[in-house]
Amino acid sequence: MRPHWPFGIAAAVAVALLVMALSVVGDVGAGAEPGPRPVGGVAAVPTPFESTATHSTASESTLPEPTASEVGAADEVATRLPTAAPTPRRSPVPEKVAAKRSKKTATVKVPERGPGTFVRAHVDGPKVGRSGAPLLRYDVRVEKGLPFRPDATATEIQAILSDSRSWIGSGKQRLELVSSAKRADVSVYLATPDTTDRLCAPLRTYGKVSCQTGNRVVLNAKRWAFGADAYGSEVAAYRRYLVNHEFGHRLGHQHVRCPSKGKRAPVMMQQTKGLHGCRPNPWPLPKRR
Ligand SMILES: [Zn+2]
Repeated sequence: MRPHWPFGIAAAVAVALLVMALSVVGDVGAGAEPGPRPVGGVAAVPTPFESTATHSTASESTLPEPTASEVGAADEVATRLPTAAPTPRRSPVPEKVAAKRSKKTATVKVPERGPGTFVRAHVDGPKVGRSGAPLLRYDVRVEKGLPFRPDATATEIQAILSDSRSWIGSGKQRLELVSSAKRADVSVYLATPDTTDRLCAPLRTYGKVSCQTGNRVVLNAKRWAFGADAYGSEVAAYRRYLVNHEFGHRLGHQHVRCPSKGKRAPVMMQQTKGLHGCRPNPWPLPKRR
């Protein structure tokens, strides 16, 4: 044993340094979400609104060009995780869950790229949150060609943000879904991977992750459709995490780490990357209800 220690220690230190380096680099940005697994593999539970795509009630908009001022407070993936890492990252998904996912048929197809034109949802919601708190209005747009209906998507996002466990639960923020682009302070874009990259540029989303940049919250449709390993087959829960996390950035929150093993993951932890011993948690204020 003893003669092997120095090598063992050196190897352990090397591995630890490598892991630290990757973690640190991955957290440099404010909030893009690098994924630990390739997207586009297994389909998730299809929801009713995903089965058809009708845009009859919604209006169209074109892909806006990013401006320097808009990208200032943005998320960024500092580096792509190497495909052949010396210390392979094990999937945090339990084997049973992984097997369950692989059996699902691919009923949702998300194209890699779209036209860059969006259909805005024509749904308005109530102002939610404590009266008197600052109000942030948002609209929701879905890229043409995606299998998600704008109105249903907006309604789902609105339900997430209206939950008392979401940001409004602090009493410091009010939110309102609006159908008018003119009234919106923030626009949520559900976009193909390619368009996500364009909307998030110069931030790097690699076609795999989402971002918040300026007054845009850009949700990568692959993530919206398929979730991430940390949430297994719970795509609806992953969507809650994604919406709360990216809105969290818009509200000024930065990334945090898993406080300790077994604890709920803070919503501003990059749960798409893995849970590091924490339990998945999509809410800013999980105990509030
Ligand atoms: Zn983030």
